[in-house]
Amino acid sequence: MALDPSSLNPRRVVAQLRELQQLTGDENGAQRVAWTETWNTSRTWLDGLLDGLPLERKRDQAGNDWWTLRGDSDREVLIGGHIDSVPNGGWLDGCLNVVAGAEVLRRIAGEGTPPVTVRLVNWADEEGARFGRSLFGSSAAAGSMADQDELRKLTDREGVALPDALAANGVDLDRALDARAQIAAAAAYLELHIEQGPVLESLDLPLGVVLGTFGVERSRFTWRGQAAHAGSTPMDRRRDALAGAAKLALYIREIAAEVGGGAVCTSGGVVTKPGIVTSVVETAEQLLDQRHLDAGALARMLELARTAATRFAQEENIEVEWERIWSIEPILFDDTLIGLCEEAIMEIAGRSHRLPSGPLHDAAEVSRAGVPTVMLFVQSLRGLSHTKLEDTRELHLELSVRALDRLASKTISLVAAG
Ligand SMILES: [Zn+2]
Repeated sequence: MALDPSSLNPRRVVAQLRELQQLTGDENGAQRVAWTETWNTSRTWLDGLLDGLPLERKRDQAGNDWWTLRGDSDREVLIGGHIDSVPNGGWLDGCLNVVAGAEVLRRIAGEGTPPVTVRLVNWADEEGARFGRSLFGSSAAAGSMADQDELRKLTDREGVALPDALAANGVDLDRALDARAQIAAAAAYLELHIEQGPVLESLDLPLGVVLGTFGVERSRFTWRGQAAHAGSTPMDRRRDALAGAAKLALYIREIAAEVGGGAVCTSGGVVTKPGIVTSVVETAEQLLDQRHLDAGALARMLELARTAATRFAQEENIEVEWERIWSIEPILFDDTLIGLCEEAIMEIAGRSHRLPSGPLHDAAEVSRAGVPTVMLFVQSLRGLSHTKLEDTRELHLELSVRALDRLASKTISLVAAG
């Protein structure tokens, strides 16, 4: 069967991803860290995929790359992703989105002028691997980059300041927020991504529609008891700070079970002092991370943890203090686009599944800015990402390109009709 050069070619996407892996990876994995030479190589390579198409090309003030196919209407459907990777990263995280998006844009351009304007965006520095600040380009475009003073102080491991690394790549931090103009006419944003978790594989499904990104509450509980000699202090006379932390570390399982709906709680660290084998623990600093897609449920999870901590402190005759380290609200994607995405997946794969995203994505920033947004997940093998072991079956990758293409068509029709 002869392939029409303008028709969608999902197999070409897989071949291009392999080529990118060869070009910008080594024996340890992908090395497309943002604001580096290898990243620039990958950006130039991506641009080359779109050679010969009637597109406007633009690099905005935050370093995001845009390819615009003008339509009959100025209303825009955006397809996005990020070509940057973590050091020693996988061959799919981020770049699948933009390489598949380029293929979809090629298919649409091949059919003539679309009814609405369609744009592909490659967000700058999604991973934050070099300076520890994720979602750089998308937060600038979304207008939510509120921490420019903090950003100015960031340095990489070699001591290079973030503003200098940006300047070397043609980006002026003071003007990054001007990128906001880029999403002013956006009527919808679509993003394909690998799941980076085990859910779709456990259900034996290639594709799923993402409902939104989890809200997160990060807390520090500081427990205070009394240091006392391990040999001379009777068991009933101890004020053991670790006992409170230990009770809470187990109780969070009950919180997650009681609240349900995908709730997760993690006590990821406890530091004890004096931390020696011959002393009862005097202070225990305990970290807690709680996540849920529903803001009310997330607030209840935190409340349950704090109430329990007070009770455990009384039971153990110790004290406890609570402090919020960081939080972000759940970000829910657009109901209508979720419906369209589910239709697209059903048409391509026969079955679909709705799931939340644990990790944040550029899509969360775009959604926060008020643009109707949806994401599509493709199965990750063993749930692994951010490692060279990251993988997805080629058949599933091809299905994901087809589903993104269907979703784009449906979304264009929706926006054209609205
Ligand atoms: Zn990613």
